[in-house]
Parts: sequence; structure tokens; C-alpha cells
Amino acid sequence: MKVSLGSWPTPLEPAPRLAAALGLADLWFKRDDLGGLGAGGNKIRKLEWTLGAALADGAETVVTTGAPQSNHARLTAAAAARLGLNAVLVFPGEAGESRSGNLALDGLFGARVVWAGDRDRAQVAEEIVAEAGKAALIPFGGSNAVGARGYVEAARELKQQLPGLTTVVVALGSGGTMAGLVAELGPEHVLGVDTGALADPLPVVAQLAGEVAGVTIAADHLRVRRDQVGPGYPHFTEASAAALTLTARTEGVVLDPIYTGRAMAGLIAAAKDGSLGDRPIFLHTGGLPGFFGNPDAVAYAESSLS
Ligand SMILES: *Cc1c(COP(=O)(O)O)cnc(C)c1O
Repeated sequence: MKVSLGSWPTPLEPAPRLAAALGLADLWFKRDDLGGLGAGGNKIRKLEWTLGAALADGAETVVTTGAPQSNHARLTAAAAARLGLNAVLVFPGEAGESRSGNLALDGLFGARVVWAGDRDRAQVAEEIVAEAGKAALIPFGGSNAVGARGYVEAARELKQQLPGLTTVVVALGSGGTMAGLVAELGPEHVLGVDTGALADPLPVVAQLAGEVAGVTIAADHLRVRRDQVGPGYPHFTEASAAALTLTARTEGVVLDPIYTGRAMAGLIAAAKDGSLGDRPIFLHTGGLPGFFGNPDAVAYAESSLS
């Protein structure tokens, strides 16, 4: 069972000025940042399936985990509000001073936030589910075989919007988005750009994509760039900063520092080394609240004011 949370299909838009800047014949943006609910983003498509399953199980509370600036946690909170469910978000460590970006929106959507301290956040989440009764655990990033079906649907949309597409470029975090795309399009048509959210994402994507497609997908058939992780997941890299600036100044589109900034930096690197292919599609997975929740990204943007 699936619940309806977004506005589909999301637009597919040409990005001619960015294409020209990169020496590409054409380039397209799939605007999954414009999904409708809760300030938008790729987690909406996964939540349509994972929350559909939770509702079918009779859940009244949903519990999930993530980093404090998790877009998935924010959209879980928004979706729970839409569906009349309670949301509990479990974050690592202690509450910090900054409550900007996604965290501020979590509060606005009425979610309960639990800080796990030095305990394992997944275990804390499981305990809350067990104690709450009529509660469902939504996986980290919404990435299980149920959630990934949302990106099988997105891939079908893309095939209708741009027959003959070659490569979809996507940020790789918890893996469900890339897995759904790979299940529908085949591994050769998806280029994942690793963000460093998982220590070893390739087996995760291969396993999930295989489960969804019902065939075995070998991890070494996946196309993944791992050159954009930099000092690690939470860091705003120079290449991501350059990608934010170029995309903003050629197309008037804002990327986020952690996911779509890295994905665009990977697309730029692939365009330069000739491995991108014709007619690439950049999947814009959202993350704008994460931009405002990242002090380095905000300071970088402010420093470009003349
Ligand atoms: C979560 C997220 C991703 C990565 O998606 P996964 O399915 O976790 O790999 C990409 N972009 C944004 C903005 C996200 O929030």
C-alpha cells in the first residue's frame, strides 16, 4: 500500500546555460526538490511507500533516525503531520546551540526530538518503538526495499519525460534513491556520487536494487564516484561550493552543501574526464533547509555578496 504525499510528475527542465559552461550538448534537471510536501525533496517518494506500510500495520507513531540536519527526518515529520501521525526523531549526541535549518522545521511540524547522547541512535529508536505501542520504525534515510520503490516510479516518470535518457546523476547517501533508479534503469544508466553517509555504500545499493528488481545486481556493475567525499559527510567541500555557485549563476537553482552540491561536483568532474555520456539528467533531490542549517554554506554564500 502506498499513500499519496507529493505532486507527481515532478518537472524535467533543460539547463542550457550550465550545459554550455560545462561543454555539454545538453543537460536536464529532474526537479524532485519540488515534491510539494514539507519544503520538498527525494525522501517524499520513499515515505509514500514506507508510511503506507506503517499505516497498513495500524501505526499511530512513526520513529526514525538521522543526522540533526536530516532532510529525511524533516520530511518524516511533515508527512506525519499530513497523515495525523506522531513523529519521533532520534538524533545522535546532545542538543547543540544551533536549531536552524531542518531542525527548526522539525519543531514547526510538531515532531518530538530525542537526543541519543552517546548511545546508538538505532537502538534508542527501537526502544521507543517497543515502548510506544502502535509504532513503526522508518529506516535511516527511508532506504529499504519498500522505500526504494518510490525511485522505481521516479525512473518510470523519467523514461516518459525523456525517452533515450543515458545517465541519471544522483547523490548517494543511504542508498535507496540510487537503488530504485538502478532497479528500473539498469546500473549502466545511473551515476551515483557518494556523499560519505555510509562507510561502504556499494554493497548496500547493489543489495537493495537487487531486492527491488528481483534479480542479482553485482556491486562492481554500479557506477559510483567516490571522489567527492572530501573530509567526510558533514563537511562543505570546495568542489561542492564551486558547484553551488556555478549552478546558482547559470540556472538560478540552489543546491545544498552535502548532497546535491556533491552530486553536481561529481557531474562536473565526469563532464571533464569524458565519462558522463550524452543527455545527462541531474536528479535534484532537494535539501534547501539543509543549506540554511549549514553555517559554512551560509557563510560562503554571504561572502559572495559584494
Ligand atoms: C537523503 C538525500 C539524498 C540521498 O538519498 P539516499 O536515498 O539517502 O541515498 C540526496 N539528496 C538529498 C537532498 C537528501 O536529503
